[in-house]
Amino acid sequence: MIIDCHTHAYPAELVAAPRKWALAHCEMHWADLVAPKDRPGIQGWSDLDTMLAAMDAAAVDQAVLLGWYWENESTCRQQNAAVAQWLAAAPERLIGFAAIYPNANVIDQLENAQALGFRGVGELHMGVQDFSAASPHWQAMAEWCSAQAWPINCHATETAGHEHPGAIPTPLQEFVRMAEAAPELKLILAHWGGGLPFFEQNPKLRKTLRNVYYDCAASPLLYEMRVFKQMVDLVGIDKLLFGSDYPLRIYPRSQKTPEMARYIESIRTESGLTQEEQNKLMSGNFARLLS
Ligand SMILES: [Zn+2]
Repeated sequence: MIIDCHTHAYPAELVAAPRKWALAHCEMHWADLVAPKDRPGIQGWSDLDTMLAAMDAAAVDQAVLLGWYWENESTCRQQNAAVAQWLAAAPERLIGFAAIYPNANVIDQLENAQALGFRGVGELHMGVQDFSAASPHWQAMAEWCSAQAWPINCHATETAGHEHPGAIPTPLQEFVRMAEAAPELKLILAHWGGGLPFFEQNPKLRKTLRNVYYDCAASPLLYEMRVFKQMVDLVGIDKLLFGSDYPLRIYPRSQKTPEMARYIESIRTESGLTQEEQNKLMSGNFARLLS
């Protein structure tokens, strides 16, 4: 069984004209990251049928459709309405995490998303969406999500690395503060948590971060495959989740159209994980987290 806990779905009118759509919606970070005007982007696109075909080709049973870290509440609501149609069309294959603007009306946004069939929140970005552990709206959302057992997926930028366009910092200490303030919140930090797993070697911090999980979305863009084994050594297999970042082209040199199979095959053959570890990574941990 395979559950991909980190994919993105976009409304059809956005896919038709990404940059124009972004400018019309005042989503400048997204425009520059995903539809840059000065260089070819690595974003790929899919519609519902293309995505289900990619899942079938890679034997992915279920996928989490994440929203995006939009800078406007209205964009978040529009995205959720569009994604809800995908969820309704393939309820047994797709799990929805809502796009939430974390600086206003969060409870209303969350209740609206729940009514549409969503089961979590994300992907959020504290740097782009301008919030922190101290923001009252974040705290209200963390409390609501803890009570509903909804996970929140947050983008984590690598703490050190080469400069690349659109890399906005997400300070690790803020994630620690979030976990301290909401110990029951299931916090999923994308992209291996931007390096936070290293600091779990501190026993006090490990306790604070006991409900923090790490996904491996887009890892081939950043790290060698031995990172999987090293993450197991750092935090244990139970905290690691498989996510691809589909339809991002995570092998930009060779992958002209988005697909899921290559990354999964690479994990199977190059990660060094045992079969039991792979079972937990690929589905077991996320299934437990969501139940
Ligand atoms: Zn991300």
